[in-house]
Amino acid sequence: MQKRQDVVVIGGGVAGITVAANLAQRGMGVALVERQSTLGGNATAVCCKAVGGECQLCGGCLLADGLATLDGLTNVQRLMETTVTQVKRVAGGFCVELAQPDAVTSVEAGAVILATGFDHVDAHTKGPYGYGILPAVTTGQEMERRLKEQGQGAYDHLNGQRVAFIQCVGSRDEHVGRGYCSQVCCRYALRLARLLKKRLPDVQISVFKMDIQTSGRDFGPTWDAITRDGMRFVAGLPAIIRRSTENPASVTFLYDDILAGQIVQEDFDLVVLSVGMQPRRDAGQMAELLGINRDAYGFFATRADEASTIVPGVFVAGSCAAPRSIAESVAHAQQAAEACYLYLQEKGS
Ligand code: SF4
Ligand code: SF4
Repeated sequence: MQKRQDVVVIGGGVAGITVAANLAQRGMGVALVERQSTLGGNATAVCCKAVGGECQLCGGCLLADGLATLDGLTNVQRLMETTVTQVKRVAGGFCVELAQPDAVTSVEAGAVILATGFDHVDAHTKGPYGYGILPAVTTGQEMERRLKEQGQGAYDHLNGQRVAFIQCVGSRDEHVGRGYCSQVCCRYALRLARLLKKRLPDVQISVFKMDIQTSGRDFGPTWDAITRDGMRFVAGLPAIIRRSTENPASVTFLYDDILAGQIVQEDFDLVVLSVGMQPRRDAGQMAELLGINRDAYGFFATRADEASTIVPGVFVAGSCAAPRSIAESVAHAQQAAEACYLYLQEKGS
């Protein structure tokens, strides 16, 4: 059954929720399309990283805040387990055709906002690091999920052990088509590292990096604390991670400590790969449906305002357009909502 709305928002992660709530609060009718059965997207797996009751401003709470706002709004039509199959230009805007588990439907609207989010880089693609083969190699996302499901004691067995965080896994590497910095992985890795260090005073944490991306006002307190917490930073990344010969449950690797000017071999009990962000695997298909461009790395391309696209009436919000943290995605979604609202006002919809 076809329904008319002011805006169709595609994607029900933190950016989609924010943009839908923003426009609904201005009195607009919004259809929020989400392919999963629940809202939240990647942010649902983010754990709380407060240490000793002190918030680390990781942005995890922003999802719950957004959902609570959305719950109070009656002019957002939630279309769950729904995928977009076609987008057509019609008088007054767009007709978005949708597939649901047991129905085909469509929504007409004056504007469309893409908020389809991102995929984590698959750590399996970094073969020499042994993810999926070596039990002592995990990812930041797995650590987040485990802390969320099991609570902050999930890694208490690591006290007295050696933990390595390895940065830039799948990012800043033109050989794999991702020459960009994913922006978020230094911040989430260092918040996780600080959480472990605060809880487990005898854990030995080493962070292997090219350099550290500390952008964002929300990261200042964490960075100040980390510099006091006795973590080791090593300027150099390993090439290959292998099973340790001394203890098969551990791993070992060689690295070139650039600052010390020497090659070092060291064993670790746990290695955490700081995997980056990449465009969603269906980003090309979605761009084609809407007739918009993508940038050199596959994220949706924007005009100079960073929210509108080459197609009038099509906007983008959050990390589908560039790597962004939760807080940055929320801020960008507000910007996209504003651009969309002004567009519809000017158009007289
Ligand atoms: S912002 Fe992050 S660290 Fe702070 S309370 Fe929320 S989830 Fe916990
Ligand atoms: S945020 Fe840090 S770990 Fe992630 S790509 Fe940038 S420099 Fe590397």
